[in-house]
Amino acid sequence: KGANQTIAIARAGGQVYHIGSVGPDSGWILDILTQSGAEIAGIICATSPTGHAIIYVDETAENSIVLFEGANGRINQQQIDLSLATAQASDWLLLQNETNQGLYSVKRAKQLGMQVCYSAAPFSVDDVTQILPYTDLLIVNEIEFEQICEKAPNLKDRLAEIAVLVTLGANGAKYSHRNEVTDINAYKSDAIDTTGAGDTFLGYALAAIDRGELLKDALQQAAAAAAIQVSRAGAAAAIPKISEVKLFMRENK
Ligand code: ATP
Repeated sequence: KGANQTIAIARAGGQVYHIGSVGPDSGWILDILTQSGAEIAGIICATSPTGHAIIYVDETAENSIVLFEGANGRINQQQIDLSLATAQASDWLLLQNETNQGLYSVKRAKQLGMQVCYSAAPFSVDDVTQILPYTDLLIVNEIEFEQICEKAPNLKDRLAEIAVLVTLGANGAKYSHRNEVTDINAYKSDAIDTTGAGDTFLGYALAAIDRGELLKDALQQAAAAAAIQVSRAGAAAAIPKISEVKLFMRENK
């Protein structure tokens, strides 16, 4: 998820510094990240094999995912400190549940005055309970949001304080922050594989929010990027560039 989200942010025109860990045989991943425009100095090479996902796509374009953690569990605190040494208070820290050191990262980010965007997937009650107190913007899909509400009811007050963006598949997305609610419709798309749709939406939305664009415009552009992404097979490879997204928006007003 982190790699997909990094690629989406970079293709959306955002400046992104990826902190991660890969196995010895993963030059190709570094190549894809670099080609997308991401900075990769924060990625270490571990002795464990690269973490990966085995993705099953059914005839309705929905997916089931089996995860192998591997090197994703080998991130260390010194690496995070070194990476965050160049961060500014105006930067965002974005994290997911697929890697270790999440709690340490968000604590350091908050000490530096950064904002935290949390993609709380795959669902883990322990992770979400630890990370949500440090989160400014939570981005999840509908199922993950229901899981948080059902399995971590003690987080209800915190959810009411922070910004929450829930993606709703072909029904679009809903952003809420205290009394502010913004609904975004999905664009019509001939979906063939939705794997990575949420990551694409997140990357485009966060890049635009970080640039200071109006929230509604940021989410609209994210919906357009995700509509293109679901019309193509694959995850990272299917994430469009911003020029394609702008053209799509002009053609689908
Ligand atoms: P993933 O399949 O990667 O787990 P997700 O469940 O995290 O995705 P979704 O909520 O399914 O994320 O989709 C994210 C966004 O992608 C939606 O908010 C919507 O804008 C777009 N999207 C998803 N499915 C479709 C579709 N069938 N048609 C058009 N847009 C879609």
